[in-house]
Amino acid sequence: MKTCRGCHRDLSLEEFHRNKNLRDGRETKCKTCRSAVAREHRDRYRGYLVAQTRKYQRENREYFREYNRSYRKRKHETIQAGAGVPERD
Ligand SMILES: [Zn+2]
Repeated sequence: MKTCRGCHRDLSLEEFHRNKNLRDGRETKCKTCRSAVAREHRDRYRGYLVAQTRKYQRENREYFREYNRSYRKRKHETIQAGAGVPERD
Protein backbone atom coordinates (compact mmCIF):
# COMPACT_ATOMS: atom_id res chain seq x y z
CA MET A 1 0.00 0.00 0.00
CA LYS A 2 1.04 3.56 -0.65
CA THR A 3 -0.57 6.87 0.25
CA CYS A 4 -1.33 9.16 -2.65
CA ARG A 5 0.10 12.65 -2.22
CA GLY A 6 -2.81 14.06 -4.19
CA CYS A 7 -5.95 12.54 -2.70
CA HIS A 8 -4.33 11.01 0.43
CA ARG A 9 -6.00 7.67 -0.12
CA ASP A 10 -4.21 4.45 0.74
CA LEU A 11 -4.03 2.56 -2.51
CA SER A 12 -2.33 -0.53 -3.85
CA LEU A 13 0.83 0.02 -5.89
CA GLU A 14 -1.08 -0.91 -9.04
CA GLU A 15 -2.89 2.40 -8.67
CA PHE A 16 0.36 4.28 -9.20
CA HIS A 17 2.21 4.62 -12.47
CA ARG A 18 5.71 3.21 -12.55
CA ASN A 19 8.59 5.64 -12.41
CA LYS A 20 11.98 4.05 -12.07
CA ASN A 21 13.57 7.36 -11.09
CA LEU A 22 11.70 7.36 -7.81
CA ARG A 23 12.84 5.46 -4.74
CA ASP A 24 10.01 2.96 -4.57
CA GLY A 25 9.58 2.79 -8.34
CA ARG A 26 6.13 4.37 -8.30
CA GLU A 27 4.74 7.87 -8.75
CA THR A 28 3.79 9.86 -5.65
CA LYS A 29 0.28 10.47 -6.95
CA CYS A 30 -2.20 7.79 -7.99
CA LYS A 31 -3.27 7.31 -11.60
CA THR A 32 -6.52 9.19 -10.98
CA CYS A 33 -4.69 12.20 -9.57
CA ARG A 34 -2.04 12.09 -12.26
CA SER A 35 -4.63 12.16 -15.03
CA ALA A 36 -6.57 14.93 -13.28
CA VAL A 37 -3.41 17.01 -13.08
CA ALA A 38 -2.56 16.30 -16.70
CA ARG A 39 -6.04 17.29 -17.82
CA GLU A 40 -5.99 20.48 -15.78
CA HIS A 41 -2.56 21.31 -17.11
CA ARG A 42 -3.68 20.67 -20.68
CA ASP A 43 -6.76 22.87 -20.29
CA ARG A 44 -4.72 25.66 -18.79
CA TYR A 45 -2.11 25.37 -21.48
CA ARG A 46 -4.71 25.39 -24.24
CA GLY A 47 -6.27 28.53 -22.76
CA TYR A 48 -2.84 30.08 -22.65
CA LEU A 49 -2.14 29.22 -26.29
CA VAL A 50 -5.44 30.67 -27.45
CA ALA A 51 -4.80 33.84 -25.47
CA GLN A 52 -1.30 34.12 -26.88
CA THR A 53 -2.51 33.66 -30.43
CA ARG A 54 -5.25 36.27 -30.01
CA LYS A 55 -2.80 38.70 -28.46
CA TYR A 56 -0.32 38.12 -31.24
CA GLN A 57 -2.95 38.60 -33.93
CA ARG A 58 -4.25 41.74 -32.28
CA GLU A 59 -0.77 43.20 -32.03
CA ASN A 60 0.00 42.26 -35.60
CA ARG A 61 -3.36 43.07 -37.08
CA GLU A 62 -1.91 45.09 -39.92
CA TYR A 63 0.49 42.34 -40.82
CA PHE A 64 -2.25 39.70 -40.90
CA ARG A 65 -4.55 41.93 -42.86
CA GLU A 66 -1.85 42.50 -45.43
CA TYR A 67 -0.89 38.84 -45.45
CA ASN A 68 -4.47 37.72 -46.06
CA ARG A 69 -4.95 40.31 -48.74
CA SER A 70 -1.83 39.25 -50.61
CA TYR A 71 -2.73 35.58 -50.21
CA ARG A 72 -6.22 36.13 -51.59
CA LYS A 73 -4.75 38.06 -54.49
CA ARG A 74 -2.18 35.35 -55.21
CA LYS A 75 -4.82 32.63 -54.90
CA HIS A 76 -7.08 34.46 -57.31
CA GLU A 77 -4.27 34.91 -59.83
CA THR A 78 -3.14 31.31 -59.56
CA ILE A 79 -6.65 29.98 -60.00
CA GLN A 80 -7.14 32.32 -62.96
CA ALA A 81 -3.98 30.87 -64.47
CA GLY A 82 -5.44 27.38 -64.09
CA ALA A 83 -2.79 26.27 -61.62
CA GLY A 84 -5.13 25.36 -58.76
CA VAL A 85 -4.96 26.71 -55.23
CA PRO A 86 -1.52 27.87 -54.07
CA GLU A 87 0.10 26.75 -50.85
CA ARG A 88 0.15 29.20 -47.97
CA ASP A 89 3.70 30.04 -47.07
ZN1 LIG B 1 -4.74 10.19 -5.76
